[in-house]
Amino acid sequence: PILKGAEIRDTFLNFYAERGHKILPSASLVPEDPTVLLTIAGMLQFKPIFLGQRTAEVPRATTSQKCIRTNDIENVGRTARHHTFFEMLGNFSFGDYFKEKAIAWAWELSTKVFKLPKERLVVSVFRDDDDAFAIWRDQIGVPVKRIIRMDEADNFWVSGPTGPCGPCSEIYYDFHPERGDDDIDLEDDTRFIEFYNLVFMQYNRDAEENLTPLAAQNIDTGLGLERMAQILQRKPNNYETDLIFPIIETAAAIAGLAYDKCDEAQKVSLKVIGDHVRSVIHMIADGITASNLGRGYVLRRLIRRAVRHGRLLGIEKPFIQQVAETAIALSESAYPNVRQRAAAILGELQLEESRFLETLDRGEKLLADLLAKVPKGGEIAGKDAFKLYDTYGFPLELTQEIAEEQGRTVDIKGFEAAMEEQRDMSREAHETIDLTVQGSLDELAENLHETEFLGYSDVASPAEVR
Ligand code: ATP
Ligand code: MG
Ligand code: MG
Ligand code: MG
Repeated sequence: PILKGAEIRDTFLNFYAERGHKILPSASLVPEDPTVLLTIAGMLQFKPIFLGQRTAEVPRATTSQKCIRTNDIENVGRTARHHTFFEMLGNFSFGDYFKEKAIAWAWELSTKVFKLPKERLVVSVFRDDDDAFAIWRDQIGVPVKRIIRMDEADNFWVSGPTGPCGPCSEIYYDFHPERGDDDIDLEDDTRFIEFYNLVFMQYNRDAEENLTPLAAQNIDTGLGLERMAQILQRKPNNYETDLIFPIIETAAAIAGLAYDKCDEAQKVSLKVIGDHVRSVIHMIADGITASNLGRGYVLRRLIRRAVRHGRLLGIEKPFIQQVAETAIALSESAYPNVRQRAAAILGELQLEESRFLETLDRGEKLLADLLAKVPKGGEIAGKDAFKLYDTYGFPLELTQEIAEEQGRTVDIKGFEAAMEEQRDMSREAHETIDLTVQGSLDELAENLHETEFLGYSDVASPAEVR
């Protein structure tokens, strides 16, 4: 039988409960730590324990943690595996078991319980982690060609410049084992998908970058629920699993489309809607409201992106509420607070959507003015098209379409240059995400606000900006 998403979640939690882990609830998307923007990993609620600031109440815990990663926003719908909202299944050891057990259980779960064929799994270890390498080779029996040594950037976890840190080991699923074991490139996502990350917190790092072994060694892991669903349900991407696809079908029906018959661009739009609507229902359920600051701005931006993609699909009327109903129905058994807060969710979405539709109307007027200044057969400047995109949420495609209807074109190279310029400014924020996953996100929040989120404030009413 093919496991449903909910069954995968339960199977994971029960597997670790049977091995002495206490099942704990997901923490809120709004972290306790006020400097952190949003919950981006299962370990966040345990961070004070790992940092030695709080003692653990139990030696072992397991959770299904709702997460939001804004650094993956541009990947949404474009890679098969990235979302803004996803669930991270995790097992944690607080000074209790360490590498051997963590590896053995992750393997047992993957191969015996989820029944992934051994020949289809590849593992990574940190370059210098000979212990983990030996465990995979000698105790688990993974062929050495399928144990890949990786650098710090991918396989060494730090919580900050000093403090607890340690190597990681990841498990990947191989969609194409027939391509052979020579020259395995784990970055090749036409072949591999990372689904399980094991972090071995074993050192303390001091200001001189010396590593000393920790007295209490910890385990922190994360397995992506939607990725496991993709693998087990044999879908080409996370979006077509039972965790998300009904939302996409609702949106497609509103647009009068059938997903199977959609072109790639339409599929991307449907996936963006499917993803973002999951994010926003959980964010509002956890008490976030749309604003021009921090979390509120993330929420606003996600709603607007969803609405914009609806427009790209030809949906002119408000539709987010209806799509949200499907998302709420899908999530309520695992996260009852989305049903309890359904009225607040739908109300907030209605308000934001209607505000944004007005903004889009204003953008259309601006575009009309621009068009009036460009003679027939002429070209709209790239920077103007970018301003429409950035400030008024106008997709380039929409600007192009309207321009073409009026016998004008758009300077796409100029648009891309303006976009690239803005990206350069925000790149730093994106690059720091993996470190800030367990570190502080306030810098990211600030960067995001300065760069990506600034746009809409132009058209918000003065009261909103304040
Ligand atoms: P990737 O390299 O694919 O971006 P990652 O290394 O950034 O993933 P981790 O930080 O190790 O991911 O998170 C642990 C697990 O959570 C991953 O192995 C994956 O299964 C899942 N995961 C991480 N980011 C996402 C995302 N944006 N959408 C869905 N699942 C995710
Ligand atoms: Mg990532
Ligand atoms: Mg990775
Ligand atoms: Mg990883």
